[in-house]
Amino acid sequence: MSLSLNSGLWDTSPLFQNAVMDLEMAAKTMGLDHNVLERLKSPKRAFCCSIPVRMDDGSVKVFEGYRVHHSITLGPGKGGIRFHPEVTLSEVSALAMLMTMKCSLVGLPLGGAKGGIRVDPSQLSRPEHQALIRRYTMEIIGMIGPDKDIPAPDVGTDSQHMAWMMDTYSTSVGHAVPGVVTGKPMDIGGSLGRPESTGRGVVYVIEHAIEMLNKKGPGKLALNKCTAAVHGFGKVGNVAANELHLRGCKVLAVSDFYGGIYNKDGLDIPDVMDHMQKFGSLEKYPKADRISNEQLFALPVDILVPAAIDGVITNKNMKSIKAKIISEGANGPMTSEAQQYLESQGVFIIPDILANAGGVIVSYFEWVQGLQNFFWSEKEVNEKLAEVMLKAFNRVAGNSDKFKCGMKTAALITSVERLSQAMLLRGLFP
Ligand code: GLU
Repeated sequence: MSLSLNSGLWDTSPLFQNAVMDLEMAAKTMGLDHNVLERLKSPKRAFCCSIPVRMDDGSVKVFEGYRVHHSITLGPGKGGIRFHPEVTLSEVSALAMLMTMKCSLVGLPLGGAKGGIRVDPSQLSRPEHQALIRRYTMEIIGMIGPDKDIPAPDVGTDSQHMAWMMDTYSTSVGHAVPGVVTGKPMDIGGSLGRPESTGRGVVYVIEHAIEMLNKKGPGKLALNKCTAAVHGFGKVGNVAANELHLRGCKVLAVSDFYGGIYNKDGLDIPDVMDHMQKFGSLEKYPKADRISNEQLFALPVDILVPAAIDGVITNKNMKSIKAKIISEGANGPMTSEAQQYLESQGVFIIPDILANAGGVIVSYFEWVQGLQNFFWSEKEVNEKLAEVMLKAFNRVAGNSDKFKCGMKTAALITSVERLSQAMLLRGLFP
């Protein structure tokens, strides 16, 4: 399929190009209004800034930061802040577009946004992290707010960064504003279940996929008889691996940035988590063999969960993949080409905007709880999360049947149906 891009500003990254290609494919399949497509292909607004930080040694370092609002049609912008050395404006724009699609898909009254700082977070001390996120918050302060745009954690950031952002914003307006961010620590208005929500959602949709595939086909898959491999052992990957393990699925391999660990009889995930907690890396985990990330992708497992970063499954490794189900814990882990190839081979792909939507769903619950000053039990949070995910899964599966397309295209169609209706109702100003 040929690409028709709008600009040289945000469309320079493969992630953005893939996102537009996927969107064009969905638009063609559903017969989307051309004007709506044109508007969705570009972010609404993008902001770039430099962030000077006084380092521990007294020197000043300047980092590049971005915040992009892709769409605020359905409500305030929503999306995480990423700390990564290779972040670009184009990548952040693509991720903001994915947030628009994700929030629309799962029926949230929220738009899509994303932020990023070009930094290697492992090279900064905690005080330097604090200075960086506080100064960044001041740089983007006009763009954010509980009614405007609500950041959250993403790759390289955590609940402590959100606490610093909330404090900086609150100090600048003179009163506490917990609703300006989500993914906060519990003591300042965070939601129970938020830290585990993305990983849990990744596994809920695997359960729905197995149930659906069993209804449709002759094969009888059972999660407690399946094997899995999880790429990435951070906030999403470790929870997903543990949820799979708790359901009796044998997780044969997990990996982090430096490589993976493998045990043919299945890893004891709580023990791996303890090791990670103690040593900060999977390296030297004693009860497994070392494998590379590429070996992990090629394992003969039933379920593969790419839960680290974008662009890891490409035309270079797609042919080595043997999994029957892929649940995309990361945003954009697979190129369009790899997705089309794998779907043509009968692999069932649960796309990112559905599979990892648990995080933003519970972010929405956190925002609602904060606005009402009324907090729910973890059981209530998890039940409501499961309900929203099931509804979204069924709508996507329904569109996959209706339009005779894979789950990725069906997920985008489901998002765009709601979004385009809202755009057409609101009209174009002036
Ligand atoms: N960073 C997460 C995502 O990509 C969560 C965003 C949020 O909660 O706003 O979905």
